[in-house]
Amino acid sequence: NRKVVLRDYISRAPREDDMALVDGGAVPLRVPEGAAGPAVLVKNLYLSCDPYMRGRMRDFHGSYIPPFKPGSVIEGLGVARVVDSTHPGFVAGDIVSGMTGWEEYSLIDKPEQLNKIQQSDIPLSYHLGLLGMPGFTAYVGFYEICSPKKGEFVFVSAASGAVGQIVGQLAKLHGCYVVGSAGTNQKVELLKDKFGFDEAFNYKEEPDLTAALKRYFPEGIDIYFENVGGPMLDAVLLNMRMHGRIAVCGMVSQHGMTDPSGIHNLFCLVPKRISMKGFIQSDYIKLFPQFVDYMTKHYKDGKIEYVEDMSIGLENAPAAFVGLFSGKNVGKQVVCVSQE
Ligand code: NDP
Repeated sequence: NRKVVLRDYISRAPREDDMALVDGGAVPLRVPEGAAGPAVLVKNLYLSCDPYMRGRMRDFHGSYIPPFKPGSVIEGLGVARVVDSTHPGFVAGDIVSGMTGWEEYSLIDKPEQLNKIQQSDIPLSYHLGLLGMPGFTAYVGFYEICSPKKGEFVFVSAASGAVGQIVGQLAKLHGCYVVGSAGTNQKVELLKDKFGFDEAFNYKEEPDLTAALKRYFPEGIDIYFENVGGPMLDAVLLNMRMHGRIAVCGMVSQHGMTDPSGIHNLFCLVPKRISMKGFIQSDYIKLFPQFVDYMTKHYKDGKIEYVEDMSIGLENAPAAFVGLFSGKNVGKQVVCVSQE
């Protein structure tokens, strides 16, 4: 049972060699006798690489989710097939999503956190993105935090990623004008041609972000869906309209920085009466069933597109994860451990 473990805590950007692929011994066939409570043994099929996992590699216990343990398997969201179960809710053969390990087989000792997936013609890996946590983040972030109105001007950063691509499309469906930023020209094309953003630009090719935003939003921004932080947020603040809303989903450029601010224009919040609100998707979990219905319908009707970046093989999980922080991923980053 091969597994990927965290070697030790880090306080800088993650590197591939911060993780190691180790032999975890024989493949388990059954939930062990004498387990403390009901448990489920799963074979992992797809694993999700998510930026928040970087925070779990630090020796910091004050966050909403505890750090990983050095030497232990990396935990993350995944889609898996049940091999054996002592929990009445699951039987061998069920396909589930939830917290699992970066290993071939995992023993899940909190099976109540698993969701059973009803198989359909939607690929199973989409339950880690479009129909999973990132899609849900886009859904609650846009509808619950942004208070969107038809015709408003919306800007999304890291727009081609797992969350951003969905936010932009929700905003278009809502009748907004939507611009996205991304870090390569290929991603910019994707935003315009595949996801239907009105405009998109490569922030790495813009010497002056404030001027770039002014060009795309001559009348200003009503809604900023914040994924990156740093100089982009600073430039956005200058371009916000009166009564604008900023949904702070994440600040991927600032993870692990010792001085994570670099923001000079925060005072814009005051004269422009801007609201800026952070959120964690799990606080809205009761909306999950309604989100799945919405997203499934819109995807099947061809109203929402979805792009994922699939890395093949557990051994490639560390590289796939590290790539999130240099923008290597085009779309939602997942790892295929096994197809069946
Ligand atoms: P993505 O799929 O968007 O992958 C991360 C992307 O971030 C990269 O592809 C890259 O795109 C961009 N990026 C990386 N480093 C930088 C940098 N230094 N400056 C600017 N952009 C950078 O990830 P997700 O969609 O999964 O996550 C997006 C954001 O949402 C993250 O901040 C994440 O932490 C947050 N999040 C928050 C949740 C919540 O509940 N609040 C839940 C889920 C995610 P590019 O090539 O365009 O630079």
